[in-house]
Amino acid sequence: MFAMQLRALGTPLVWTELPDREPGPGEIRVKVAACGVCRTDLHVVDGDLPSPKLPIIPGHEIVGRVDALGAGVTDLAIGERVGIPWLGHTCGACPYCASGHENLCDAPLFTGYTRDGGFATATIADSRYAFPLGEDGDDVALAPLLCAGLIGWRALAMAGDGKRLGLYGFGAAAHIIAQVAAWQGRTVYAFTRPGDVATQAFAKTIGAIWAGGSDEMPPDLLDAALIFAPVGALVPAALKAVRKGGRVVCAGIHMSDIPSFPYSLLWEERQIVSVANLTRQDGLDFLKIAPQAGITTTTSRYRLADANQALDDLRAGRFEGAAVLVP
Ligand SMILES: [Zn+2]
Ligand SMILES: [Zn+2]
Repeated sequence: MFAMQLRALGTPLVWTELPDREPGPGEIRVKVAACGVCRTDLHVVDGDLPSPKLPIIPGHEIVGRVDALGAGVTDLAIGERVGIPWLGHTCGACPYCASGHENLCDAPLFTGYTRDGGFATATIADSRYAFPLGEDGDDVALAPLLCAGLIGWRALAMAGDGKRLGLYGFGAAAHIIAQVAAWQGRTVYAFTRPGDVATQAFAKTIGAIWAGGSDEMPPDLLDAALIFAPVGALVPAALKAVRKGGRVVCAGIHMSDIPSFPYSLLWEERQIVSVANLTRQDGLDFLKIAPQAGITTTTSRYRLADANQALDDLRAGRFEGAAVLVP
């Protein structure tokens, strides 16, 4: 198999040939058809996240087909199309796993961070954390649903049922969640980097009724705001834009420091919460509603060998929607 491997933090990925692995008990081997590129991959490469496995193959939005079954795997078949998400394994025994909060597991493994992921021609996954994807939809179009969609969905649920929803950082996750929110009958306000008129125009084509810079106030106060950009200064900006009792949901795994702000921004029962990871139930729920909501993804396709270019383009905001690697 071939992979784009991270050998040291802060260095480019390296094209590497590795021996084919056989799946262990409970595991599957998946021939990768497409793998989305997520901002979290950038955080892994940049060393923003503690204790990655090194070397590591990044990538946790994997669409592929099962091509080998480990001992004891009976619920998936050779040739079946599956999606492999960020949550790669949980312990099943800690208080979080025992109470339905496996996203907070004390001893988890994460695909593309602490176990090898999908920037490769093949990957090994724990079969219990793979989602059957069926045959509807294109591999490349489905890939961004596996993280941008799933974690965006969890963040949207955390926002409560308020109608006016602000999305700060209009990348892969927001472009999916804007469509879900509009389908749910919410009103979407998109906030981009100041001056990014191209992304503001894009946001309006997929359901936002207003789009502007993150330094602007929306025309109406928001019921909730989701922050997808890794920029701490957006927290006080979003607090300013939500109504009394409104909620600000930080949906990223890493953010720059949040600057100090006057207590009056939080006063009147405004809330700040964060979203961590996903549960398998989040995945099952979202993958069921995505076709009902008629989600379409906007993707930029890169060859696997061009993964470093895809990461650079993501960092610089050079495309709308999501980048997807194709082996
Ligand atoms: Zn991700
Ligand atoms: Zn656990």
